[in-house]
This record gives sequence, structure tokens and C-alpha cells, in this order.
Amino acid sequence: MGDASLIDGKAIAAKVRADVTKAVTELNTAHDYAPTLAVVLVGEDPASQVYVRNKHKFTREAGMQSLEHKLPIDVDEDTIVELVRTLNANEAVDGILVQLPLPDGINTKRVIGEIDPAKDVDGLTEISAGRLSLGHAGLRPCTPVGSVILAKQALDALGQDISGKHCVIVGRSILVGKPAAFLFLEQNCTVTIAHSRTKDLAGVCRSADILVAAVGRPLMVKGDWIKPGAIIIDVGINRVPNTNPNAKRATKLVGDVDFEAASKIAAAITPVPGGVGPMTIACLLRNTVLAACARRGWNVPDVLLS
Ligand code: NDP
Repeated sequence: MGDASLIDGKAIAAKVRADVTKAVTELNTAHDYAPTLAVVLVGEDPASQVYVRNKHKFTREAGMQSLEHKLPIDVDEDTIVELVRTLNANEAVDGILVQLPLPDGINTKRVIGEIDPAKDVDGLTEISAGRLSLGHAGLRPCTPVGSVILAKQALDALGQDISGKHCVIVGRSILVGKPAAFLFLEQNCTVTIAHSRTKDLAGVCRSADILVAAVGRPLMVKGDWIKPGAIIIDVGINRVPNTNPNAKRATKLVGDVDFEAASKIAAAITPVPGGVGPMTIACLLRNTVLAACARRGWNVPDVLLS
């Protein structure tokens, strides 16, 4: 490890969750109500099962209700759509999350499109994406929101303002890259979106004050792609063989950035795991409280406004 400071996603996510817990306590006191998150899991993808288990655990820990709907892998699309419609109509449900990826053969766009935008805590419906792009109030996708929070905190620690920074986002997916671009733009960054057809990707990355890597290619971003003093937000989660002969497991998780090399040049960097990942769930819980307040016309507790 070189000079870069570690952006502790676990600790920052714990603080977001603690704020959500306080907000839920306030809602309980004021309205005798605890927000409810419903998660739909189709099939038995091991990674998705872990994510859903963690979502359930942290939702309960924050004092909210958690509903899990597990459907078999061979369920037909209409049944999933029917379940989403039932959850839309259920007054007690504040947030709906359909765990992705859905099995092959299921039209993800159709299923997500069925979610009531008022309950779209993943921020993935066309309405949510439209509101984000127009700068209107709405529910924002969790991983990009978490990325912005981490970048801002890292800059704060350096005594720097995010406004005016050049943010390069590598990746243009609907889930991460595109919404991240709008969110960093909202923070008054100058934003560049790079992707698989970008020419001189290394040079583009080297111009970034904030570099967000959301590609899904292990260690793709090399040390000499990093501008000295940059903030690195590594969204990538890649499972690779563990080459350490003493390792307990045959595989390990790495990000899209060559962490060792980048640490010697950047000012601050997120680890993988323990960086952006924990923020995603924390921001999902936050969105569930925001959705509950918006739908019921309640003031958002102050603790969630900062
Ligand atoms: P997608 O596969 O949907 O998108 C990947 C993006 O990377 C595409 O825009 C693609 O460009 C771009 N890309 C692919 N290869 C290259 C290349 N050689 N050079 C430049 N750009 C390239 O992935 P997601 O956005 O869904 O996820 C990205 C990563 O983030 C994954 O590792 C995923 O596991 C992780 N992730 C982590 C989360 C977390 O909570 N930490 C949550 C969600 C995702 P093009 O559009 O041109 O094909």
C-alpha cells in the first residue's frame, strides 16, 4: 500500500444505516409506522441469495419490515408481473426491489417497468431514470448514490470540494454508469462517460480528479492510468482465482482497478470488498424511508436530509 488513504465503505455505510435507524425511530414515534421493503428473488443464483439475505438482515436491523418473495427459477414471467402488481397495490409496502439478474427468458425491462415508481427503491424504472436525467426529485439508484457519498467524504477529508472536479466514469450501464454520470453532474462535476469504444481510455482516465470504474473486468485500470492525487471509486466486483497458496478459499474478490498500483498514486481509493458494496444496501434502506415519506406526505426526518 502506498500513500492513498482507504475510503472505508463499511464504516461510512454503517453511519448511513445508523441514520436510517434514527429516521425509522422518528417515524415510529410520529406516525406509529415502520417502512416496509419487499424483495423479489427469482431462482437460486448464489450471489443473489447472499445479497437478498443481507438486505433482509439490514432492513430488520434498521427497524423496518422486510418481506421476501422467493420464486422458482422456472416461474413464468406473468407470475412475476402479477406479484409486482400485488406489491404495488399493497398499501403496507413502501419499497419494491426485484433482485437482478432475472433468469434467462424473463423480460427484465417488462418486470422492472411494472414497479410503481413511487416504490422503485432501486431507481431503475423509466420514470425514475427520467426524473434523474431532468434533475427532478425522485428515487435514485443505490450504487451510484453510494459512489457519490464515498467520493464526497474522501474529498471532504482532503479539504476539497466536489464542485468543478473532472469525474470520469468508465462504464455506461443503466444500473451504474449512466445514473452515476447524472448524479456527479448534480454535484457540479464535469463528467466524462467512457466505455468499450472509448479511444485512449488510459489517457481519458488520467484526466480524472474522480475516477469511477464500473466495468466488471478485474484490475483493468492500471496504476499509470491514474492522475496523482485522484479519488478512485471502484464499483467492480470480480471473482478471480486466489493465487496465494496459503489462502483458505480458491477464489477471491477484486475490483476493476489495480488496487496496489493505484494506491501508490491516488489520494484516496475504495477497497474491494468493503468499498462501494456496503453502500448499496445502506442507500437502499435510505430510499425505502424516503419512498415511505413521499408516498404518505410525511416530512423526511432531518437526519436523512444531509
Ligand atoms: P455492465 O456489464 O452492464 O456494464 C459494463 C460497462 O463497462 C459497459 O458500459 C461496457 O461498455 C463497459 N466496458 C466493458 N469493457 C470495457 C473496456 N474494455 N473498456 C472500457 N469499458 C468497458 O456492468 P454493470 O454496470 O452492471 O456492473 C459493472 C461492475 O460493477 C460489475 O463488476 C458489477 O459486478 C459491479 N457492480 C457492483 C455493485 C456494488 O454494489 N458494488 C452493484 C452493481 C454492479 P459498452 O457499453 O461499450 O459495452
